[in-house]
Amino acid sequence: MTVWDVPGQDHAVTALRTAVERDEVAHAWAFIGPTGVGQEAAGRWLAAALNCGSFTPPCGACDVCHRCLRGAYPALWEFVPTGAFHRVSDVREQWLRIASRSLSEGRYKVLRIVDADRMNDASANAFLKGLEEPPPRTVWLLDITDPDEMPDTILSRCRTVRFNAWRDDALDAEARRLGVTDDAERALAVRAAMGSPLQLRRLVGEQGLDDLRAHRAWLSLLREGGPGMAIVAARALDDEIKRRTAALKSAGKAELEELASHSADELPAGVVRQLNERAVRREREARVVTAQAALDDLAGWLRDCLVVGEGGAPLIHVDDADTARGDAAALGARNLIVALDMVLSTREALESNVGQGLTMEALFLQLSALAYR
Ligand SMILES: [Zn+2]
Repeated sequence: MTVWDVPGQDHAVTALRTAVERDEVAHAWAFIGPTGVGQEAAGRWLAAALNCGSFTPPCGACDVCHRCLRGAYPALWEFVPTGAFHRVSDVREQWLRIASRSLSEGRYKVLRIVDADRMNDASANAFLKGLEEPPPRTVWLLDITDPDEMPDTILSRCRTVRFNAWRDDALDAEARRLGVTDDAERALAVRAAMGSPLQLRRLVGEQGLDDLRAHRAWLSLLREGGPGMAIVAARALDDEIKRRTAALKSAGKAELEELASHSADELPAGVVRQLNERAVRREREARVVTAQAALDDLAGWLRDCLVVGEGGAPLIHVDDADTARGDAAALGARNLIVALDMVLSTREALESNVGQGLTMEALFLQLSALAYR
């Protein structure tokens, strides 16, 4: 393995690596960029670089490096939101407590806050206190998609590093690595991933491209079938969500069983409760993420409908330009823009944990009203 293996993020890696080499690692970093393009890997490599005992850390080969890269090192923490927002109780009772605790192993703590822009005011204020008096040998990493959502008081205390969406050639290499040998399928997955390796993994995963094709067909389904089809589309999405969360459920159960099999006595009730809570959280998160990914697919399709007549911009759905032309002619540019706006606001509404089934049904009904003749 080459050291600092963070594909597509040369700029961020250079900044972090240089800081380590000069022993000038800031105590807080803002990782600004789209979700899941390499922030996790960068954080883990940084933890390895700061804790690896080799002459030129990170070596990438020692036990410390290995555990950091797996996310299983006691000085490395990755905090994910426990609901729609990071809770103030999590900030006080976990983040700040862990930051001030002395290390059982390692030299530097690396504390990464996933979706840091999902702190509410109370959480941000509590966290700011911790940032103002940083404990020694503690590095905060804040994943931020939208810096406008972060208070300046926090941002101004962080060193900023940009993370970029992946380029198509990097996504293509990743799709190959994941075993997609068919050129046309790979091209569609790469274009539809729109710079996100997370989306790419969904698309090349089980039924991913079939789901994508179902999502892009919603518009013609609604314009030909009318409001009755809104219920059909909502149900189909619900089935997809059930299918995707079922896999998570069985993974959670397996985790619990494995833990129980390693312990001679019965697991403490607290541990079981925590694991169950985590499973519920993951499942809720997966429901929202699945619905949002479907909306991303639909937004990409509407975008294609808008540009298909122009001849300039390359299409995402290279394999189905004819249907895009049909949808474009039936709706017209004005309605396509209205539809795109509806899709994007629904996507945003899902962030705040609104009832996802009803929200999606309402969107499909609105779209059918717009498109059905
Ligand atoms: Zn090492």
